[in-house]
Amino acid sequence: MSELSFLEGVNRYYDLAEQSLDLPPGLGAKIKACNSVFMVRFPIGFRDGYKVFTGWRVVHSEHFLPVKGGIRYSEIVDQDEVEALAALMSYKCAIVDVPFGGAKGALKINPGDYDDTSMERITRRFARELANKGYISPSLNVPAPDMGTGEREMAWMADEYRRMEPTDINAMACVTGKPVNQGGILGRSEATGRGVQLGLREFFRHSEDVKRAGLNNGLAGKRIIIQGLGKVGYPAAKFLHEEDDARITGILEYNGALLHPDGIDVEAAKQWQLAHGSFEGFEGGTFVPDSTPLLEEDCDILIPAAMEGQITSENAPRIKANIIAEAANGPVTYGAHQILRERGVVIIPDIYLNAGGVVVSYFEWIKNLSHIRLGRLGRRADEARGDHIVTALETMSGKSVPGELADRIRHGAGELDLVRSGLDDTMRDAYQQIREVYLSRKEIPDLRTAGFAIAIEKISRANIMMGV
Ligand code: NAD
Repeated sequence: MSELSFLEGVNRYYDLAEQSLDLPPGLGAKIKACNSVFMVRFPIGFRDGYKVFTGWRVVHSEHFLPVKGGIRYSEIVDQDEVEALAALMSYKCAIVDVPFGGAKGALKINPGDYDDTSMERITRRFARELANKGYISPSLNVPAPDMGTGEREMAWMADEYRRMEPTDINAMACVTGKPVNQGGILGRSEATGRGVQLGLREFFRHSEDVKRAGLNNGLAGKRIIIQGLGKVGYPAAKFLHEEDDARITGILEYNGALLHPDGIDVEAAKQWQLAHGSFEGFEGGTFVPDSTPLLEEDCDILIPAAMEGQITSENAPRIKANIIAEAANGPVTYGAHQILRERGVVIIPDIYLNAGGVVVSYFEWIKNLSHIRLGRLGRRADEARGDHIVTALETMSGKSVPGELADRIRHGAGELDLVRSGLDDTMRDAYQQIREVYLSRKEIPDLRTAGFAIAIEKISRANIMMGV
């Protein structure tokens, strides 16, 4: 079967979900299409001459402003991919009730080909090109990290924008995912992976859903294979291993995989990879040079956290996982999705499961606009109230409150506590909305279609209310 392109696949999901809704004629076509595509080519001079770079910023839906979405650096990116990712951002933000429209950006580049100084020059120039046309702006268009970019690139972009707009008091809010000492927020770097963990936890709170996937009980002991130990995959695997007692039985990277039936120490494996460039030689598992066939290894949960198009019509019939938890964007092609659904594999879709990044980006944006760290005003007041409660309990009962419990009562929430609480609340609430729609509407065949239907409904309401 020939695969649809990433964008065609996203639009098919959209069409299926829209059929279950009663939208005013024509509105669906408006919501589905990308509003604008900005493509730019710019030269950078090197010792041996100029090199021309190509970049994109695609705005999918402006039903809320600013629009939001990461910027990826990749050698193989094209416009189709950026449009698909921009559309997913609109749906994702709607599902998790983050009041942003959707966008995405990309630069065609292999960051590994350039030293740090060159990367800084290229990134600053790209930021200028985008900002000059309104494609970076705290009120209109707020990028974030994605594949191949991180805190460093966001700090350069924010600084470049601030230089261009020195009188804009909210300039720092022009991008999110910045380092904490450059206007970032605690918990952002782990947020997408943390969201994957919290989303899976919520799924496992619903025993009927777990049973439908052919599993039982909680996350503890579940065999998980994860593809991609990057900004998303690493925290997701680490937290699931360390906090939920799940067994990470496989870690698949582009240059080799690590397998261990009893589970891999994720932190140790990551440190080895950072030091040596791959898992080869790491003693806490068996190294396998070709990782791609291992997507088909037996496991309970497969977490693709690398890139799109990894599970295709070709390998979908051989996937053995009961659950595919889409940490990456678009890791399962449209064709594979149909095959997996027929086989009863439960897919927890990207438009929900990897939304943690944009949720915490929203908190960072609010922090930048309010110019104050979350929790700064209330934390000590909360601690004082906690102290009074402990004193009252001890006075009234004549007994002392056990130490750990007393500490928990006294604890005032700091920034990281608040970020985690807000993220947890969002991930739980969004999953409940999705399963409710899935279970209550028989024309909705799976969780992905339920997610799309919820998103389209919310976006259409916003469009109708403001006047399209
Ligand atoms: P990243 O560049 O930090 O990490 C990607 C990892 O996958 C790297 O370790 C890379 O070596 C590995 N990888 C690449 N190709 C591979 C292959 N063929 N097989 C195995 N491993 C491979 O990127 P990221 O930010 O973690 O993004 C990963 C995915 O998550 C992307 O689809 C991205 O769009 C999505 N996502 C990212 C965020 C975010 O906040 N960074 C948010 C939502 C969704």
